[in-house]
Amino acid sequence: MSSDQLLRQFPPAELATLIATRRDLHRHPELGFEETRTGDAVFQRLAAAGLSPRRGIGRTGVFADWPAERPRILLRADMDALPLQEESGAPYVSEAPGRMHACGHDGHVSIALAVAERLSVSPESGPFRMLFQPAEEGAGGAEACAADGILDGVGSALGLHLWNQLPVGKIGVNRGALMAAVDEFSIDVEGPGGHGAAPHETADPIVGAARIIDALQSIVSREISPLDAAVVTVASIHGGSAFNIIPSAVRLTGTARSFTESAGKALPEKMERVVRGTAEAAGVRARLHYRRVNRATVNDPEMADLVIETAQRILGPESVDAETRTLGGEDMSIFLDRVPGCFFFVGSAPEGGHRPHHSPRFDFDERALAIGTVLFEAVAREAARRG
Ligand SMILES: [Zn+2]
Ligand SMILES: [Zn+2]
Repeated sequence: MSSDQLLRQFPPAELATLIATRRDLHRHPELGFEETRTGDAVFQRLAAAGLSPRRGIGRTGVFADWPAERPRILLRADMDALPLQEESGAPYVSEAPGRMHACGHDGHVSIALAVAERLSVSPESGPFRMLFQPAEEGAGGAEACAADGILDGVGSALGLHLWNQLPVGKIGVNRGALMAAVDEFSIDVEGPGGHGAAPHETADPIVGAARIIDALQSIVSREISPLDAAVVTVASIHGGSAFNIIPSAVRLTGTARSFTESAGKALPEKMERVVRGTAEAAGVRARLHYRRVNRATVNDPEMADLVIETAQRILGPESVDAETRTLGGEDMSIFLDRVPGCFFFVGSAPEGGHRPHHSPRFDFDERALAIGTVLFEAVAREAARRG
């Protein structure tokens, strides 16, 4: 089969429901742990499909188990939107000021509901646990669901992401790390402050911060193995108030990304050394605050093979890029760290222009909803068949 054949054979009424559901959610985006309207819609659809959904997992999450046996295969979709003012120009533009489904999670919910309906009509399949997870975008939704026991009795986990870096009909996956570990840092650089005309009487945190930014660039190029991918980005600088004052404080913030445990462990240690040493040389004080946001999203090789083989069967042998990696992050990593599983990308690049994830112009090709549904259902069935 090919993606064209799949789309021709896909039931038109089901595609209409997929699109209508996605557009309704798109009009009404909700931020992490505020997904109550979305949760209502999910609950009603699952109940109408004859399932017994439960609310309150990880605060605003919803899940359903069927049939009630163990171990379960966790099928996960995320529900939250981003704090962003939409500029997509779509007829289904967000009606909530400053909030937007700019990552495609509206599509994930729509796909997962269709998959739940498809899987629930054949009680011999499963057992499945379908999770509609809150707060993927950095607020800790997966961790909250794990703390509430979503993995109890779960033997494996599957999830997908619509992905605008791939064309419709393509699938991106990896037998190991698919997405990077995401760390967040800030650096406070401090000095006594002073007159802009008398730098020799003080220590200048602006110059210190500039040297620190420059010195940080050599960590990835000189201190991490060239075979290991990593990123250190300083993304904001704040300091100073007037043209003739040397300020007493400058704050830098940024992110560090890595795929391997060794690089993930090395980054904060090396940054600490560089920050302290460079500050010392500039005569200022500097403190590094470092926080891990997400671990790397690492697929189980066997589960990845299951996805690769299923996608090739459904979409054709050329449809799968099995070497996909991105330095973006995902809290699906929390689940994949504890049970074997696979997270994969479903190509959704819209025709006529680049609309990147997390941008105010984000939108995706809704044909990907049909492809995602067929593939997610098929990999779930295959995982159940292989036990
Ligand atoms: Zn996102
Ligand atoms: Zn996302």
